[in-house]
Amino acid sequence: MPRNFAKRLDTVAPSATLVMNARAAELRARGIDVFPFGVGEPDFEPPAFVLDAAKTAIDRGSSKYTAVTGIAPLKEAICKATERSRGWAPSPRQVTVSVGAKHALFNLALALYEEGDEVVIPSPCWVSYPEQVRLVGATPVIVPTTEAEGWKLSPSALRASLTPKTKAVLLCSPSNPTGAAYDEKSMRALLEVLDAHDCWVIVDEIYAELAYDGFNYVSAARIAREHFPGLVERIIVVDGVSKQYAMTGWRIGWCITPVALAQALDIVQGQSTTNPTAVAQHAAIAALNGPQEETLRMRAVFQARRDVMLAGLREITGSHAPSPEGAFYAFVDCRSLYGVTHAGKVVDNDADLALWLLDEAHVATVAGSAFSAPGYIRFSYATNEERIRGGLDSIRKSLVRAGRRAS
Ligand code: PMP
Repeated sequence: MPRNFAKRLDTVAPSATLVMNARAAELRARGIDVFPFGVGEPDFEPPAFVLDAAKTAIDRGSSKYTAVTGIAPLKEAICKATERSRGWAPSPRQVTVSVGAKHALFNLALALYEEGDEVVIPSPCWVSYPEQVRLVGATPVIVPTTEAEGWKLSPSALRASLTPKTKAVLLCSPSNPTGAAYDEKSMRALLEVLDAHDCWVIVDEIYAELAYDGFNYVSAARIAREHFPGLVERIIVVDGVSKQYAMTGWRIGWCITPVALAQALDIVQGQSTTNPTAVAQHAAIAALNGPQEETLRMRAVFQARRDVMLAGLREITGSHAPSPEGAFYAFVDCRSLYGVTHAGKVVDNDADLALWLLDEAHVATVAGSAFSAPGYIRFSYATNEERIRGGLDSIRKSLVRAGRRAS
C-alpha cells in the first residue's frame, strides 16, 4: 500500500484542546455565544511596546532567514530574563529558540527519544506530552497523581516509575491542566530521586510567571545547580513568551539545555523549520527586556479570576478542588454532574459531559481524559470575570433545565 499513512500516526490522538476549539468555533459561526473556558491562551494583548518593536523590526527589514536557533540578542535576553526571574544564569550557547514551546518539546522528542525508550510523565498532563513521545516511536509512562495529593508526584511514585529504559522525565510546574506547582522542597525531593537515576530531566516552566498568592516558584535548574551538580548536565528547561506576555500567536518558545544537546537541536531544527519567524523574535526581545509590569498586572487579574471560577465550580459540582498555585486553569471533579442527557444518551463520562456543557450551556471546556484524568474537566479562566460569571450561570441554568437543581 504505497499511499497509506505512516504507522506512527496509528497511536497518536489529535490535540483534544484544538478539537474542542474547532467545535466551539462551529457553534460561534452559527451565531451562538460560546463561553471560552476551553482555550489555553490569555485574553490580554501583549504590551504595546512589544507590538511597536515588531513594527520597527518590519520597517528595518526583518524579512530574511536568521540563525537557525534564534538571533543572538534574543538568546541574551532569554538568559538575562532567566537570571532575573529564575535565579540562575544560563549561557546563550545553551539556548534553542523554536516556534513555540510545543515545538521546543517536539525537537527534544526528536533529538532524544527512540523506540524502546520510556518517558515518564506525571498525569494529569498537558495533551501533547504523551502524543509527542508516541509520534517518535517511544513509550510514554503515565504516572497518575491525585487531587488528594494536590496533583503532585511523590518521590516514591517517581522512583517506582523509573526503569533502565527511562530516557527522560517530563515535569510541568505550574501545571497545565491542574495549576499545581512544586514548591522548592517538593521539587528538590523529586530531583534527589532523579539525581540517582541517569536520565534526562525536562521541566516545562512556561507558566512560572503566573503563580499566585505569593507562591515562590523556584526553578528546578537552580535547585539542581545548588544541590545536585551531577544533574546539571541532564536538566532541560522549557519556556516561552506565549503565556507570560499573552503572545501565543507569535510562536516563540525555547529550551535551555546542555551545550551538546543545543548543538543537536540546531541540526534537528535546521532540517525542519529553520528559524522561528524573524519579526516574532524581535517582539520577544522587547517582551523579555522591557518593563515586566504587564505580566504582574495580568497575574493579579488571573488570581482574582481563579477565585471566582473556582468558587462557582465548587458550588456547582460539590467538588473540593484545591486552589491552584498557578497557570490559568481550574481542574475540577465533575462526576456529580453525570446523569444529564446528551444526544439521547445518559452522560457517564467526562468527554460526553464536556459536549453537554458545550451544546447545552454553550461553555467550551476540555474533558479531563484528554489529560489522562477521566472524571475531571478543565476550565480555563483566561477570560474576563464577567464572562466567567456568565458561563457559570449558564451551567447552573442548564442544570435547572435538566432537572438537576432547583431554580
Ligand atoms: N507547555 C504547556 C504546559 C502548555 O500549556 C503549552 C500551551 N498550551 C505549551 C507548553 C506550548 O506553548 P507554546 O507552544 O505556545 O509556546
